[in-house]
Amino acid sequence: MALRESGIEWTHYSGNAWIGCTAVGPGCNLCYANARFAKRLRMVEWGAGKSRHKVKGFAANVRKASRQAADLGGRQRFFVNSASDTFDNEVPDEWREEVWATLRQTDHLDFILVTKRIGNVAKMLPEDWGVGYSNTWLLATMVNQEELDRDMPKLAAVPAVVRGLSIEPIMGPVDLSKWLHLLDWVIIGGQSQQMGDAEPLVVEYEWVRALIDQCLAAGIAVFFKQWGTGHYPRGGNVIDGEVIEMFPNPCSGTPSPAPWQRDRRVAAANR
Ligand code: SF4
Repeated sequence: MALRESGIEWTHYSGNAWIGCTAVGPGCNLCYANARFAKRLRMVEWGAGKSRHKVKGFAANVRKASRQAADLGGRQRFFVNSASDTFDNEVPDEWREEVWATLRQTDHLDFILVTKRIGNVAKMLPEDWGVGYSNTWLLATMVNQEELDRDMPKLAAVPAVVRGLSIEPIMGPVDLSKWLHLLDWVIIGGQSQQMGDAEPLVVEYEWVRALIDQCLAAGIAVFFKQWGTGHYPRGGNVIDGEVIEMFPNPCSGTPSPAPWQRDRRVAAANR
């Protein structure tokens, strides 16, 4: 069985080259990283003009995860910068260089980059990015139709072996029909409330159902992560008796849920 060293359901590992960020849109308003690392741990101040906290040992942590993946005889997923944004323009380019060098040197991991700053990506990618590093998946977060209409052309313009969309927290109904042919993976999730923060937005069933159906009809791998804490019953990720957790297959370009993922879907249906 695969090791899981991250609480985030769609990755095995997560790690940060730095911590800290600035809110850039409505999807940031209950930011988990801000709540944990700035408000609770006071490790860093959040926002524009505040120094980001450089994490020592990022590359070593990645190497360790890669060795573990090799011991398991397969590839595992590693979410890079879960408490920051790789394409933050307040971070020096040398910090990003460390990330690129680490990605280039790692054999047994598939890296997942998720950004809310898709407009910065093209100018911040390394020179040897080419059609995309073969082990790196690029996702942009867009939380409503307005962001989608504004940002999907930017995501579409960036080459990547796996191009994905994180619609988390989903903040309204979303029509993906114009863009589905450009996507390999879509993650959907409701909002989680952080301690002391405002109430999360309540996710409407129809928003999630319609989005999942659009992806399934187009053959796009889709992962429904959670209803969020604004939903009753709280949390959970069962929809119409199913857990839908699919991953893209970067080798064939065909969405392909692994056997254990299909098992989980059946188990949920029988609960
Ligand atoms: S971009 Fe991500 S890490 Fe940065 S403030 Fe928004 S939610 Fe938090």
